[in-house]
Amino acid sequence: MKKFDLRSLDEEQMMRLAETCDEKSFRGKQLFEWIHKKRVSDFSEIRNLPKHFLERLSEKYSISGIHIEKKQVSKKSDTAKYLFSLADGSLVESVWMKYHHGNSVCISSQVGCRMGCSFCASTLTGLERNLTAGEMLSQIYEIQRETGERVSNVIVMGMGEPLDNYESLLAFIRLLSDEKGIHISQRNITVSTCGLVDQIRRMMEEKLQITLAISLHAPNDAIRRKMMPVANKYSMDEIFSACREYIKNTGRRITFEYSMVDGVNDEKAHALELSRKLKGMNCHVNLIPLNAVKERKNRRSKEENIRDFKQILEKNRINVTIRRELGSDIDAACGQLRNNFIKPIERN
Ligand code: SAH
Repeated sequence: MKKFDLRSLDEEQMMRLAETCDEKSFRGKQLFEWIHKKRVSDFSEIRNLPKHFLERLSEKYSISGIHIEKKQVSKKSDTAKYLFSLADGSLVESVWMKYHHGNSVCISSQVGCRMGCSFCASTLTGLERNLTAGEMLSQIYEIQRETGERVSNVIVMGMGEPLDNYESLLAFIRLLSDEKGIHISQRNITVSTCGLVDQIRRMMEEKLQITLAISLHAPNDAIRRKMMPVANKYSMDEIFSACREYIKNTGRRITFEYSMVDGVNDEKAHALELSRKLKGMNCHVNLIPLNAVKERKNRRSKEENIRDFKQILEKNRINVTIRRELGSDIDAACGQLRNNFIKPIERN
């Protein structure tokens, strides 16, 4: 029988769960503390709860297991990439990044991805399954345990499309920012989406303080459709109109990600076209030099093209940065490490 992931439940749900097991509801509070404050990974580590309660729980529930299969540390030791296996053997990746202002962890939200972006490694084997909220948290808990350092920022930019796993993503954000748990401020959480407009609109109503990042990657729909199948479903106009509403409703600035691909989306005319469309919007553009994936034929833009592109946006008063390159020596592009790992297994 498949067991439910206890780590995905909030305190209220654990209190109700305790009651259904004929326990006082405060036992649920204690359980929450063990799982999200002390961050145990097995029932046997829990001390002050009645044994029969834990036994009953373990019949239907498990605490999402996670195991480090591989860790690659970059030469400068400021980035580490983890390949994790989950309880069912699924593999996901996370990246740990050390910055002056604190440590960031980039987590996966799905095993694989079904969005099919032409330059991305995560999508090569399609979507296997969604992660539970607990499995998303486990990536952070495990990295914090292994490094012994506090994680202060979380970005959901690893494998998967987070808004394609909406309910679990939301439960994850609430647990992550719960003051009784690991308590990472929502202002330090970024969620990146390929632009699922219906879900963006839904998220507006949730009253979250997270940063929303949209993978734009193109100045117009024609180019975007060549790179991202999702562009056939939603036009850039629809995305921008949802973004404007999002900014108005939440007061939060939006980030647009723009992966720079040689000869595809990196011309000066593209920068001008993008500037015109973003004019007046409370946004920030993050230029990402493409991390070339060996299974894909796309190449990274030339340095000078990236520089010129940035200058044009700046001249048009658009906030823009070039993403600091971390971990390109350790297969840090989404899905790369996992692909290198699963291939030898598949061949057997
Ligand atoms: N599905 C989400 C989040 C995952 S990817 C999304 O689409 O936003 C995080 C970011 O990295 C996205 O902007 C994605 O398009 C980009 N990306 C994926 N593969 C890349 C690569 N090989 N080089 C550069 N950027 C890449």
